[in-house]
This record gives sequence, structure tokens and C-alpha cells, in this order.
Amino acid sequence: MSEHEHLGFNSLLIHGGVEADPLGSATVPIYQTSTFAFRNADEGARRFAGEDDGYIYTRLGNPTIATLERQIAILEKGFGGVAVASGMAAVSTIYVAFLKAGDHIVSTAAVYGPSRGIMESYFKKFGVESTYLSTADLDAVRAAIRPNTRMLYVETPTNPTMELSDIRALSAIAREHKLVMVVDNTFSSPFLQRPIEMGADIVFHSMTKFINGHADIVAGMIIARNEELYKAVRQAMIGMGGNMDPHQAYLVLRGVKTLALRVQRAQENAQQVAEYLERHPKVAWVKYPGLKSHPQHELSKKQMDGPGAMISFELQGGLKAGKVLMDNVRLALLAVSLGGIETLIQHPASMTHSKMAREKREAAGITDGLVRFSVGIEDLKDIIADLEQALAKV
Ligand SMILES: *Cc1c(COP(=O)(O)O)cnc(C)c1O
Repeated sequence: MSEHEHLGFNSLLIHGGVEADPLGSATVPIYQTSTFAFRNADEGARRFAGEDDGYIYTRLGNPTIATLERQIAILEKGFGGVAVASGMAAVSTIYVAFLKAGDHIVSTAAVYGPSRGIMESYFKKFGVESTYLSTADLDAVRAAIRPNTRMLYVETPTNPTMELSDIRALSAIAREHKLVMVVDNTFSSPFLQRPIEMGADIVFHSMTKFINGHADIVAGMIIARNEELYKAVRQAMIGMGGNMDPHQAYLVLRGVKTLALRVQRAQENAQQVAEYLERHPKVAWVKYPGLKSHPQHELSKKQMDGPGAMISFELQGGLKAGKVLMDNVRLALLAVSLGGIETLIQHPASMTHSKMAREKREAAGITDGLVRFSVGIEDLKDIIADLEQALAKV
């Protein structure tokens, strides 16, 4: 890692963690293999004893996957990375690595749905207790910590309400109470936010989103602050079997090279789209950290290097207006997921959150007319023209 420490972020996206190939390949080869042959019994014995860092079996480690793990760990300023099959494999591996029966977790309420869903079903079944609240409220977080609390789990900005939590302040609280501080950094990517630099212990990504960025793969990555945390995550991943596939790793290695270019371009578009929507008479409000109207605009400038490419806005006219907008966009794809090169639009009340009881949904800030917009890298004028013609029909 050290040979790359002096490089800037864009250079690290190309060279960070990448070792020279013995045959001179410009790209990282795909080691599409399940197992690795030992030259003799002694070598096999040394590998199993951990005296030789050669490979054994792909669930335990693989050169293509290891390159991606090194690269993302460097970008996130962590000790090491553990690649997994999906963002949810990252979440479940983290819970398994650090929680046991009788433990308690304090978490952001508006987390990615299944992150809370598996805690309140499977992990509850195994005796883990949980408290979900707004982690933007530091006093509420302090008050929720119990003697058996082990983990503080934070997502910032939240999906789809775009609420921010103060990573430095929460990390300090976690340290004081000896909690493992976990941050879901999917919405920002390491280009815009590096939680380990601000005190977090574990950072993870659904690399399905910004890091891969091309809507062609599902993947996850867990990055640990130090060796002890890294080993705990690695062991849990190997045991639970949520490993990545070498071909998946290759695609992410290809996608991540343009992370800075893509996010820069998408967030330039997003800032203009957010300002356009804020002026539109059919839009009640817009939530985007880059707008002065965002209640945590100042915090976003303190902990993020840019406001990102995700926008939430509320239509006048509720559920019906939301559906009309969805049925009339032409350029934007009507689809879940986010963080890709293409603009995506989604209506939580009729889609992702439609099974949630209305009262519970509204209490979580997911109102009937809320629209989630993932801004892509198309021409700004085309994105705005698409919204203009669709909003005219609302
Ligand atoms: C998509 C997403 C996840 C889950 O990731 P998958 O790759 O779909 O398993 C977790 N957290 C956030 C914030 C997400 O957007």
C-alpha cells in the first residue's frame, strides 16, 4: 500500500492496489478459478499454517478479488477490505462479525430497508436487540446507549430522505462507549466522503451503486480501520460464505476507474436539476445537500467533498401525481437502484415502500408525493427537458 500513498485520488483509481502483472497485462487478469494447486505437501502445509501468503481456495482469497480489496481500502483510508457478493452480504457479514446474543445496536432509522429488516427478523431471533432513531440527533443517540450496546450503525445521507448524520461526533460517542462504529457509505462513495478519516471503524458499500457505476452488477465491500477489525470481518465472511466472484471483481475494477469523473459530472447535473426543481410550481420541496434550503447544508460541507447525485423531492398532489410523473418520463429509467451513469427515477410510496403501513412510512419522512431521483451523466439539458415535459402532465 505504501508505494501508492503519495498519489492523488484520481491516480489511485487507476493504480491504487494494482500490482504489476508478470506478463505485462495492462488490466488485472481474471483468475476464474475455485482452487489453487500447491507445488508440494510442504507448500500446502505452509499455506494452511499462514506462513506463506499464497492462495488456497477462492472463498478464502483470490488475486483478482484481492486487487479490488486493496484498491477500495486505499481509497477509504482503511487497513484492509473484504469483498462480498452484494451490499446486503456486507451488512449481514458485519452484524455476524461483531454482534452476539444479548447485544444491542443503535442505528439510523431511515437505513436501507433490508439492513433494518434482517436485524428485526433474523438477528432478533438470535437475541440481538436494536433501537432505531434519527442519528442526526446526538442527544437521542447518547440516551439510547445501554450497557449491552455494541454497535452504532449509521447511514448518511439516508435513503430516500437525504438526512445527514455527523460522522465525527458519532464516532466520538462510539469511542467513548467502546462501540463498533459502522457507516454505510454507499450514497457518497469514497470520492465524496471517507468516514474512517472521521473516526469510523467499519465502512461498507453496496458497490452495485456509485463504485461500479454501470448498473451491470451487484457487489459489496467492507473496509476496516485496523487489523483486528479486518480479521474479524474476514473470518465472518469466510464462515458465512458471502464472498465475491472473480469476474464480479474484474467488472468493479473496470467500473471504479472512472468513479471521480462520473460522480463529478453527475453531481454537477444534480445541483442544476435540484435548483430547477426547487423553482418548479408543482414541486413542494426538494432535499439535496447542495441546496442552501437543506437543513444540514453546512454539515454536508464539513464532512462531504460534494453533495452527490441523489435528490429527493415532494410533488404537489401526492400519490396520484407521483404515478403520473413515473408514467411520463422518457429519458429517466423507471427503476430502483442508484448511482449509475443513467438517470433513474423511483416513487417510494407506490414502489419500494408500498408495503409499509402509511403512518409508519409518513413518520419515516416518506410521504405520498416523494420522488427519488438518481442523476446520471447525460446532458443536463436532456435531463431537465425530460422532467419539464413529464411535470407538465402532472
Ligand atoms: C443498495 C443498497 C444496499 C444494498 O446493496 P445490494 O448491493 O443491493 O445488496 C445497502 N445500502 C444502501 C444505502 C443501498 O443503496
